[in-house]
Amino acid sequence: MKPMGAIPRDFDDLALAIPDATPAFVYHTSIVADRIARFRAAFPGIDLHYAVKANPFGALLEALAPLVDGFDAASIGEAGRVSMYGKPVSFAGPGKTNGELAMAIGSGITINLESEGEADRALAFAGQIGETPRLAVRVNPEFELRGSGMRMGGRASPFGVDADRVPALVKRLIVAGADWQGFHVFAGSQALDAQAIIDSQAHTIDLVARLSDEAGAAPPLVNLGGGFGIPYFPGEAPVDVEAIGAALVPRLASFPDTRFAIELGRWLVGEAGVYFTRVVDRKVSRGETFLVCDGGLNHQLAATGNLGTVVRRNYPLAVVTAASGAPAETVTVVGPLCTPLDRLADQVELPVAQPGDVIAVFMAGAYGLTASPWEFLGHARPAELLVGAIA
Ligand SMILES: *Cc1c(COP(=O)(O)O)cnc(C)c1O
Repeated sequence: MKPMGAIPRDFDDLALAIPDATPAFVYHTSIVADRIARFRAAFPGIDLHYAVKANPFGALLEALAPLVDGFDAASIGEAGRVSMYGKPVSFAGPGKTNGELAMAIGSGITINLESEGEADRALAFAGQIGETPRLAVRVNPEFELRGSGMRMGGRASPFGVDADRVPALVKRLIVAGADWQGFHVFAGSQALDAQAIIDSQAHTIDLVARLSDEAGAAPPLVNLGGGFGIPYFPGEAPVDVEAIGAALVPRLASFPDTRFAIELGRWLVGEAGVYFTRVVDRKVSRGETFLVCDGGLNHQLAATGNLGTVVRRNYPLAVVTAASGAPAETVTVVGPLCTPLDRLADQVELPVAQPGDVIAVFMAGAYGLTASPWEFLGHARPAELLVGAIA
């Protein structure tokens, strides 16, 4: 038997909404609302941006829109999904094409510049169409977010402009007549250690203060990145966001002319989502019991350990149709794809399940369906459902 991660505590007193048909993703808005309320309490005066790529499901975006201060898009397609909500939208990511830059400039989207070349092209287009472009500079910092699942700083990078070249770029944007929006610094993702995030934010604030001095201009907005993680695996604990807020808020008092924002994806929506798949077959092979389900890697790649993890570990899951007190057994839960990579759980202890039973895979609200190769092998696209209302 191998351990699995803990089911989010939210489900202690929240009824799981089990969909009629599987496979399907269900997102619980009450959990998202809880995270937003916690953020607001811990970070007074700081803007909250939603990183659309974590989960771009339309009904979820619509529910989130009134509750966040802006959206961060990683493509022009994502920007288009949130442009109707009347909130500020910023557009980050390397490789923005000329057409995408022109579209962003024409629709008032802030472009987070990833390079000087992108700045040149944006200024040239803005000139051609007679618009003032909104441009922020994404900084590639000298430091990284310690303990981060994905480090984005401290090295040569396709993301952002190296910090030492940023002041010259900012001066150039201002001279060219652009509407300079400020800085964007994203140092990493999926960090659970509050102190590491506190340190990274402190470094970010020192860095932007230095860059502003050198550029001779105060940034209207500083996007501090996010990186708040969620506990997927045994032994992991939730990130102490209240400690991060307590350390951050007083530091910002010395920047009266600057707004600060934190951009979050995973932490806001990750624990709110549950992926449901139905047991189709039950088989024993060389002494090991397999539950073969109607979806797997093609829908929830991350749970199979194939989205940026080195060692495969078990996400939390449950047999939601099992009678309480049903006997338990050790099983391996797999999806329907013809690859040994399609493994949702490896030798976990679950109540005995039969074909027809439904299995919930938790922690599926962020980087789920849209981060999975759902067309691979041609199974149908799973349904997505939003339950509960955000008051
Ligand atoms: C992906 C991304 C995010 C969101 O990260 P999470 O770990 O989901 O919070 C935020 N900002 C940028 C620039 C990103 O690329």
